[in-house]
Amino acid sequence: MAPAVQPVEAAPGPTRHPVDLGDKRLDADAVKVVRRLLRHGYEAYVVGGGVRDLLLDRNPKDFDIATSARPDDVRTLFRNSRIIGRRFRLVHVLFSGGKVIETATFRRAPDTSEREGEDLLIRNDNVFGDAHEDAARRDFTINALFYDVENKQVIDWVGGMPHIEGRVVHTIGDPVVRFQEDPVRILRAIKFSARLDLGITPDVYDAIVQCRGSLAMAARPRLFEELLRLLREGAAQRSFWLAWETGVLDVLLPELSAYLSDSEEDDGVVWRLLRELDLRTRERGEAFDDVVLWTLLLLEPLREVTRGEKDRVGAAADFLEPIVDRLNVPRRVADAVRRIVAIYPKLEAGRAARFAKTPLFALADEVHQIHRAALGHPRSTPDDAPRADSSELLGPKRRRRRRRR
Ligand code: ATP
Ligand code: MG
Repeated sequence: MAPAVQPVEAAPGPTRHPVDLGDKRLDADAVKVVRRLLRHGYEAYVVGGGVRDLLLDRNPKDFDIATSARPDDVRTLFRNSRIIGRRFRLVHVLFSGGKVIETATFRRAPDTSEREGEDLLIRNDNVFGDAHEDAARRDFTINALFYDVENKQVIDWVGGMPHIEGRVVHTIGDPVVRFQEDPVRILRAIKFSARLDLGITPDVYDAIVQCRGSLAMAARPRLFEELLRLLREGAAQRSFWLAWETGVLDVLLPELSAYLSDSEEDDGVVWRLLRELDLRTRERGEAFDDVVLWTLLLLEPLREVTRGEKDRVGAAADFLEPIVDRLNVPRRVADAVRRIVAIYPKLEAGRAARFAKTPLFALADEVHQIHRAALGHPRSTPDDAPRADSSELLGPKRRRRRRRR
């Protein structure tokens, strides 16, 4: 008897939503990239945060493309492009004004059978796939919508459109599994909820609480970077409130969460500092320097541990050391924070004349201004004051070393 023909299991088709994002500030260069790929017979879509932000009526930071074309093919099609990344190769297509359209080949999540036992952590996500698999390997449903430029349709493989309309953050699939695969997604859920003012569904919220411990196993530079993103985008107060409420802060910055629990007032200075930071970030439309952000976040507990200490630098260093280890805080940032905290009382007393000549002063002054405003003092610097930037702190030594390399 002939063997029974196995029916090929077709992937369930996506839902297509007619939406014209062209009306809504869809980037013309991103459209150009998609069109050229299509003309050469490849599949290509605008994907990710850009589509999400347009659907939520926000200004996207950037636009990414996903395509069936391999990196070398994309590179060949665009003269003004370069391949980046060693493990996962993507193509940056460059346009005038420094604009970059990131173009990535569809990839799929690694096979679960390749993973060991109960360990779900993804270590290698560098396998090409098709459009459907590429949507499914993404983190949240709102981040997995593909925009079809030619047909003016949002292609939804994962139920993201109802979540855009309902304004909620939901993982694609079981949140516990998705957070165990990559714990940094916990911080991303907090970031999107806070920044885009979206709800978190109860199952995702519970999974954050349940899986928060696995953040201790995530790559430390990624943790530091995601924490900075929580501070940079004008939603620091909501982000850290959520992180505190879910116990995520107990894992990442127990020093700060202990301080918050001890001070136990809902409208404490830490929250007022973060609110003031958010206000000013939105006002100037640009993030503050990493040193300013990191100093502000830890300012209150740092002031507490250094109060009355003769060796303020030493006391600040002892406080910061475990944090630097846990989160891989760059030395440059940690050193600057320590030095700002050391001279902070002088700054508050208006006696920082000697220090005013150092490049650190502008950063310290921004911290001080935000702190003063958070405590209810009127502003003392004009709005057009120059913006502080810690890259000046690198100094000539560092620059020389770089050139030699
Ligand atoms: P932002 O506006 O902050 O840049 P974004 O959604 O563009 O938000 P990116 O970090 O730039 O976020 O990532 C681009 C896309 O890659 C996301 O929209 C998401 O689809 C996918 N992605 C990013 N990080 C992860 C992750 N840890 N796990 C799965 N998918 C991810
Ligand atoms: Mg992005």
